[in-house]
Amino acid sequence: MIKTTKWSPDTCGCSISYQWDSEVPEAERVHTPVESVKCEFHKNHPDVKSHFGAIEEENGRKNVAIAEILENAPSIVEEVEDADGRKQKTFKSGKEPKWHFDENRNIVFDLDHLKPAEKAATKSALFRKHGARAKAQ
Ligand SMILES: [Zn+2]
Repeated sequence: MIKTTKWSPDTCGCSISYQWDSEVPEAERVHTPVESVKCEFHKNHPDVKSHFGAIEEENGRKNVAIAEILENAPSIVEEVEDADGRKQKTFKSGKEPKWHFDENRNIVFDLDHLKPAEKAATKSALFRKHGARAKAQ
């Protein structure tokens, strides 16, 4: 059955509607963008496919960077159990790192609340994953 999902990433003001087939196993599912609303930063994408690709990349880059911070900054991280009893790392309340995108759509994290050694380790981890596309200050 073809379903339509509307997705609004937390990395910008865009929203995308995409279609997928609920009879296809999750790992093989294809998301086909069909309609989008563009924010100020993404208004120049010529078609819905390139638009979807751009905001997926930015959102994915943010998620990978957050995972790196969770790995490298134990002083602001705690482990919680999810509903299935699996341990998950999460930021302690009030310790979530703030981030924004600069004018070139590089993501910039504010890591001033990390210990200096954690901040250094996180910075190099981000650089290894994303180069200049994910920075920390
Ligand atoms: Zn956007």
